[in-house]
Amino acid sequence: MFPMCSRRLRLVQVGAKGWGLLVVLMGLVASTYASGAALESVPDRTVVLTFDDSVASHHRVVRPLLKELGFGATFFITEGFSFRTNKQDYLTWEQIAELHRDGFEIGNHTRDHLGVTADTLGLLREQVEAINRRCAEHGIPRTTSFSWPGNSIHPGAFPILRELGIRFARRGGQPEHPYEGGRGFAFEPGVDHPLFIPSAGDARPSWVLSDFRRAVDQARGGRVAVLQFHGVPDRDHPWVNFPEERFREAMSYLKSGGFRVLALRDLSQYVDASVWPPDPMAVVNRRRAAMAAAESPAPTVEESVGAR
Ligand SMILES: [Zn+2]
Repeated sequence: MFPMCSRRLRLVQVGAKGWGLLVVLMGLVASTYASGAALESVPDRTVVLTFDDSVASHHRVVRPLLKELGFGATFFITEGFSFRTNKQDYLTWEQIAELHRDGFEIGNHTRDHLGVTADTLGLLREQVEAINRRCAEHGIPRTTSFSWPGNSIHPGAFPILRELGIRFARRGGQPEHPYEGGRGFAFEPGVDHPLFIPSAGDARPSWVLSDFRRAVDQARGGRVAVLQFHGVPDRDHPWVNFPEERFREAMSYLKSGGFRVLALRDLSQYVDASVWPPDPMAVVNRRRAAMAAAESPAPTVEESVGAR
């Protein structure tokens, strides 16, 4: 009776894995059909760097290092937190303009770091346009990239962002992964909604090089690893602080590995941002199903032996 029971158990487990495989295959088929949005094929080791929250260290630490290495990046600007008064921890608009003149992209993170919910949708347009006006005052082009403040997302914002000229918007690693740990998935052009682009990693104080590698080593098979950073370091947001030495180590890994390092706007060479997948959650659900199947426990030695 026991071996029968084990055999049935094993069939159930193999069945779960089979479902996972089926879901992955369905995803591949879906991505083939969705490729109407995909343009040039993405070379392996293509990475996008993004920096949120207008932190002073973006100018002091990140800027000189990225210039030295020849890397692109997007800086997502907000006047939230204590931006207006605390110039020890936050950028000045003169520094932001300098980042633009250096060739980096200036993106929009809303004036007040607005969490986008059903209740705040009506505020979004003014929040985005306020940053655009500041950009115009400082000779910076109108923003076309957006990052969701606090990873608070509402699909009702998609048409508003499109009307405002936003082509690409980056989220965190949720909802596939929990916020804690900062893990994520690489962007799949033509499959991920261009206004719902996942972070492949959201750098945290506890990260070591292997955490960073787990994020960027997903940049293959047509996928782009979009990375999210805050301050390097970040005194005002200690839960997303990233030490300067860790950052230098991470950038060295990209340089020595021959990675191409871009700004978010550069995705336009790989994907037509005007083509939206019908269901932004489809790819998220496919990843979740594949993760659940991969996590289903393998049969124990006793069960395998007993089933023979
Ligand atoms: Zn933010």
